[in-house]
Parts: sequence; C-alpha cells; structure tokens
Amino acid sequence: MSSTPVYMDYQATTPGDERVEAAMRPWFSAYTGNASSTHAHGRAAMAAWEESLRRIASFVGGSPDDYVVTSGATESNNLAIIGACTALGPRSAVICSPTEHESVLRVVDALRGRGHAVRWLEVDRDGSPSLPSLRRRISEVPHGVPIVVSVMLANNEIGTVAPIRAMFDVARSAASRRGAKVLLHTDASQGAGRVPDDAWHGEDGRPLADLVSISGHKIYAPVGVGALYIAPGTPLAARQYGGGQQGGRRSGTLPVALAVGLGEACEIMRREGPAESERVGALRDMLAELLMAGSDDALTVNGSWPPTPYTRSPANLNISLEGVCPIALARYLGPVVSYSSASACSAGDAAVDPFKQSYVLRAIRALEPQSAASVRLGLGRWTTEREVLVVAEAISSAVRELRGMGCPLEQRRRTESDG
Ligand code: PMP
Repeated sequence: MSSTPVYMDYQATTPGDERVEAAMRPWFSAYTGNASSTHAHGRAAMAAWEESLRRIASFVGGSPDDYVVTSGATESNNLAIIGACTALGPRSAVICSPTEHESVLRVVDALRGRGHAVRWLEVDRDGSPSLPSLRRRISEVPHGVPIVVSVMLANNEIGTVAPIRAMFDVARSAASRRGAKVLLHTDASQGAGRVPDDAWHGEDGRPLADLVSISGHKIYAPVGVGALYIAPGTPLAARQYGGGQQGGRRSGTLPVALAVGLGEACEIMRREGPAESERVGALRDMLAELLMAGSDDALTVNGSWPPTPYTRSPANLNISLEGVCPIALARYLGPVVSYSSASACSAGDAAVDPFKQSYVLRAIRALEPQSAASVRLGLGRWTTEREVLVVAEAISSAVRELRGMGCPLEQRRRTESDG
C-alpha cells in the first residue's frame, strides 16, 4: 500500500489481503464450471464452494448449512429483516436503534410503509442501545405479535459494541412470556473478528443472534460479497427467486470465486483476529493518547471511552475537535491522512453538505459540526506505529493552527438563525 496519505479509513473498507486475492485468482481463469453442474468441472466448483462455507462457519459460528452467501452486508441486512418479517406475517413488528447502518434503517422505513409496527430503542451517550428500553419496547408490542430486533454488533462510526448477550437474554425470555417469536438480528460487519467471540456466542460456539450479517470488504475480502447466518429453524422468506440455489433462500448462480475470497478472509480472521485486535487496539489507544496530549481541551472522544474489547471495536477512534472548522481540517489533513468525517456510506448526503452531522453523532448528542470537526479514524491490519505518529502529529498541529479561526459553517448557522 502507498504510504502517503496514510490510509486510516478501515471502517469504510479494508484494503484487500493478497492471500485472499491469491486464493480467488484460479477461480477466474484456471478453474471453470458452474457449481450446480454435475460434471467434473461443476463438482470441483461445488467442492470449493462447500469448503468456503465451512471456513465462513468456523469463523462466525454454526454449520455451513446455516449460511447464505450474499453480495454484502446491505443484502444480508435486507434479507434478514425483510425475510424474517415477511415469514412472521404482516403484523410482525421491528425494533431497532437509531444508530444502525442505513442498510437497516432504510429497510425499517420500507417495512413501516408496508404496515409493520416499528419501535426505536434509546441509546446512551456511548451509543449503546439501552436494555430497559428494549424491555419497554417489547412490552409495547401486543401479546402474541412476533418481533424482529435488529442491533449491530459494533457501530461503524463510533465503534461502540452492543450488549448482544444481555439483549439475547431479554429477547428469549420475552418470547416465552409473550407466546410469540422475538428474533434477534445483528449486523456484525464491523464486529466479527474484532469483538471477542464470547461477547456474542453461546457455549456451543453458535452466534447468540438468530440472524447475523457479515461483509467481505470489512475483513479484507473484496466488495461485493458477504454472508447471512440463519440459525436452524429461523423463519425466513426468500427475497429473490430463480434456480433455487442456496436452498432456495437466494437464487442465482453460485459466485464461487467470491465465496472462496470470503472463505479465505474468514479463515485468516479466525486464526489471526484475536492477536490482530490486540495489536490494532494498542495502536488505537496510542493514537488517542497522543491526540489528547496534543490537542489540549479541544478533543472529545465519541463513543465508549476508555475502551475495553467488550465495549468498543479496537479498530475505531472517533473524535470531535472543538473550535476547529471541518472544512479547513479536511484541507489541512487531506495530503496526510485519508479519514472519514462521517460515514462514507452517506456519500449522497455528503455531496449536498460534506460536513452534515452524522445521525449517529446526533443520536449520542456529540458536539454540533458547526462548532467542532468530527474525525473517524479506522485502523487495521496494515496500520503501523509510524503511521500513528504521523497522523497524531498532523492532527495536533492542525488543532494548534486552526482552532478558533472561524468557519463558513458557523457563519452559515448564524445567518440561518438570524434569518
Ligand atoms: N453495515 C455496516 C455496519 C457497515 O459498516 C456497512 C458498510 N459501510 C454495511 C452494513 C454495508 O455493507 P456492504 O458494503 O457490504 O453492503
């Protein structure tokens, strides 16, 4: 990877791992065959497909039959929530937090449009969904009505880890009391391989959630592939119909090369994830300490802080810099570091207003963008100590030079409030 600017946006996408690329390459050229064909080429493709599912399952949990390979976490989230609500019937309700990724929020909007009841969880100042509010929201849904609860494992903007085990306990005990299913879905795109397994798995090694989404390009595989874990017995209606591949749950010719890439990435994460998380977490802590020392009282960390492996993704640091204009900061830092000022996925919004405050920061009542720049720094497999030093120095000197210099956003806000 080129070292200038430093890449610190691993939550937007992880750079590909050469080992993943090497595993995939033969499936574009040397090997051929549709995995559904019964001839030798087809059987070889099917064997590679099945081995990939085994690797995905031994990383995320459960067995290979519990997985559908998708085009990414957006599709997995759509299939999980729409598929479960459709299977549970038109009266089924959805509960989720306002800090979910848009591929959950927009799905929930669509379901509301189709008549499903929607309830929102409260989040605390760290961005962690509140358990009392989960109990309250469940009790607001009429007895006997099934519910799908969707809560992401680690937040993509602020890294906060949700209390999945406690939420699972609430969901299970509510289900037996209410005489209706309460399914739990977790978007684990940012959390799988980074949050300790015992935070979100049972003793049998299966995820506690009934449905789990993962994305290839958050774990060093390419964009365009992901998976959905579906616990045995979970009601789920298909969203696309065709040749009946993947048990009819997601028709379409099996994307063998992509599954091989995802399988390899999962296998690497399974073997190396725990040590990598420790290394990356130590770099993230070092970065935070340097920034705190270099930015005086301008700096606030957004999300759970101080972090533990159970409360915050080791890969994430999200800070607000009070009195620093986000536009000036972006110009100053652009040549030094690639970072994100809000979720990269809200690129459509960013085109209208590049420094529009993220809905996640708004939900946790972080500083307004007019008075502070917010910076998401995402670290990962290839982040080095030297890069941390370079970025910390650049941000600290930006704060020294830019703080209090005024900002067109602040002027605009004043004009708007005067008008
Ligand atoms: N969920 C989360 C938490 C994410 O961070 C992302 C990617 N930004 C997605 C879902 C969407 O994943 P994909 O790009 O694989 O569709």
